[in-house]
Amino acid sequence: MLKKRKETMNTIEINNHKMNNEVYQLRRRVIDILYQAKDFEINLPRINVRIGNPTEKYKNVLGVGGNKNIWITEKAINKGYQYLLHVVLHELCHAVYNLPHNEKCKLMSSKLGEPCGITQAWKIFKKYSQKNN
Ligand SMILES: [Zn+2]
Repeated sequence: MLKKRKETMNTIEINNHKMNNEVYQLRRRVIDILYQAKDFEINLPRINVRIGNPTEKYKNVLGVGGNKNIWITEKAINKGYQYLLHVVLHELCHAVYNLPHNEKCKLMSSKLGEPCGITQAWKIFKKYSQKNN
Protein backbone atom coordinates (compact mmCIF):
# COMPACT_ATOMS: atom_id res chain seq x y z
CA MET A 1 0.00 0.00 0.00
CA LEU A 2 2.89 2.25 0.76
CA LYS A 3 4.27 1.39 -2.63
CA LYS A 4 1.05 2.25 -4.34
CA ARG A 5 1.06 5.65 -2.68
CA LYS A 6 4.57 6.30 -3.92
CA GLU A 7 3.66 5.31 -7.44
CA THR A 8 0.77 7.71 -7.52
CA MET A 9 2.88 10.62 -6.31
CA ASN A 10 3.09 12.32 -9.64
CA THR A 11 2.29 15.75 -10.97
CA ILE A 12 2.10 16.91 -14.56
CA GLU A 13 4.35 19.85 -13.75
CA ILE A 14 7.41 18.04 -12.46
CA ASN A 15 9.20 14.85 -13.44
CA ASN A 16 10.29 13.07 -10.28
CA HIS A 17 13.93 12.14 -10.00
CA LYS A 18 14.69 8.55 -9.13
CA MET A 19 16.20 8.38 -5.69
CA ASN A 20 19.97 8.05 -5.64
CA ASN A 21 22.66 9.50 -3.41
CA GLU A 22 22.70 12.86 -5.11
CA VAL A 23 18.92 13.25 -5.07
CA TYR A 24 18.88 12.09 -1.47
CA GLN A 25 21.22 14.98 -0.60
CA LEU A 26 18.97 17.46 -2.39
CA ARG A 27 15.89 16.12 -0.66
CA ARG A 28 17.68 16.34 2.66
CA ARG A 29 17.84 20.13 2.28
CA VAL A 30 14.07 20.27 1.93
CA ILE A 31 13.52 17.91 4.85
CA ASP A 32 15.82 20.08 6.99
CA ILE A 33 13.28 22.88 6.56
CA LEU A 34 10.50 20.56 7.77
CA TYR A 35 12.58 19.87 10.89
CA GLN A 36 13.18 23.58 11.38
CA ALA A 37 9.41 24.09 11.45
CA LYS A 38 9.34 21.73 14.39
CA ASP A 39 12.00 23.84 16.11
CA PHE A 40 9.67 26.81 15.67
CA GLU A 41 6.91 24.75 17.27
CA ILE A 42 4.95 24.43 14.07
CA ASN A 43 3.34 21.02 13.94
CA LEU A 44 3.28 19.46 10.51
CA PRO A 45 1.75 16.18 9.43
CA ARG A 46 3.92 13.68 7.58
CA ILE A 47 4.85 15.25 4.25
CA ASN A 48 5.95 13.35 1.17
CA VAL A 49 8.80 15.14 -0.55
CA ARG A 50 9.79 14.58 -4.17
CA ILE A 51 12.60 16.24 -6.08
CA GLY A 52 12.56 16.73 -9.83
CA ASN A 53 12.79 19.00 -12.83
CA PRO A 54 9.93 20.88 -14.47
CA THR A 55 8.27 19.23 -17.43
CA GLU A 56 8.51 20.89 -20.85
CA LYS A 57 5.07 22.47 -20.55
CA TYR A 58 5.74 23.96 -17.10
CA LYS A 59 9.33 25.13 -17.51
CA ASN A 60 9.07 27.90 -14.93
CA VAL A 61 7.59 25.87 -12.12
CA LEU A 62 9.74 25.81 -8.99
CA GLY A 63 7.59 23.60 -6.83
CA VAL A 64 4.16 22.06 -6.48
CA GLY A 65 2.19 21.31 -3.34
CA GLY A 66 -1.06 19.61 -2.50
CA ASN A 67 -2.58 16.94 -0.32
CA LYS A 68 0.43 16.60 1.99
CA ASN A 69 2.76 16.16 -0.97
CA ILE A 70 5.36 18.63 -2.12
CA TRP A 71 7.52 18.58 -5.20
CA ILE A 72 10.56 20.82 -5.24
CA THR A 73 12.71 21.41 -8.30
CA GLU A 74 16.46 21.08 -8.36
CA LYS A 75 16.56 24.67 -9.57
CA ALA A 76 14.82 25.95 -6.42
CA ILE A 77 17.22 23.99 -4.24
CA ASN A 78 20.25 25.30 -6.05
CA LYS A 79 19.22 28.94 -5.64
CA GLY A 80 20.24 28.94 -1.99
CA TYR A 81 18.57 28.70 1.39
CA GLN A 82 16.46 31.87 1.35
CA TYR A 83 14.98 31.09 -2.03
CA LEU A 84 14.44 27.43 -1.20
CA LEU A 85 12.80 28.33 2.10
CA HIS A 86 10.31 30.56 0.31
CA VAL A 87 9.43 27.84 -2.21
CA VAL A 88 9.13 25.09 0.42
CA LEU A 89 6.98 27.13 2.82
CA HIS A 90 4.81 28.30 -0.08
CA GLU A 91 4.22 24.73 -1.23
CA LEU A 92 3.59 23.60 2.34
CA CYS A 93 0.83 26.21 2.61
CA HIS A 94 -0.85 24.55 -0.38
CA ALA A 95 -0.10 21.02 0.79
CA VAL A 96 -0.97 21.29 4.47
CA TYR A 97 -3.30 24.26 4.89
CA ASN A 98 -4.92 24.08 1.47
CA LEU A 99 -4.25 27.76 0.92
CA PRO A 100 -4.83 29.28 -2.50
CA HIS A 101 -2.62 31.98 -3.97
CA ASN A 102 -2.95 35.44 -2.50
CA GLU A 103 -1.35 38.28 -4.42
CA LYS A 104 -1.44 40.43 -1.29
CA CYS A 105 0.73 37.98 0.64
CA LYS A 106 4.43 37.96 -0.09
CA LEU A 107 4.70 34.24 0.61
CA MET A 108 1.51 33.09 -1.12
CA SER A 109 1.72 35.31 -4.17
CA SER A 110 1.61 33.28 -7.38
CA LYS A 111 4.72 35.09 -8.58
CA LEU A 112 8.11 34.84 -7.00
CA GLY A 113 10.24 37.86 -7.74
CA GLU A 114 12.27 38.45 -4.64
CA PRO A 115 11.93 35.67 -2.08
CA CYS A 116 10.75 36.61 1.42
CA GLY A 117 13.46 37.30 3.95
CA ILE A 118 14.18 34.28 6.12
CA THR A 119 12.61 35.74 9.28
CA GLN A 120 9.67 37.09 7.33
CA ALA A 121 8.99 33.77 5.60
CA TRP A 122 8.89 31.91 8.92
CA LYS A 123 6.73 34.61 10.46
CA ILE A 124 4.11 34.39 7.70
CA PHE A 125 4.17 30.60 7.75
CA LYS A 126 3.73 30.51 11.50
CA LYS A 127 0.76 32.86 11.21
CA TYR A 128 -0.91 30.52 8.71
CA SER A 129 -0.16 27.49 10.86
CA GLN A 130 -1.84 29.11 13.85
CA LYS A 131 -4.87 30.09 11.80
CA ASN A 132 -5.27 26.59 10.45
CA ASN A 133 -4.81 24.49 13.53
ZN1 LIG B 1 1.63 28.23 -5.41
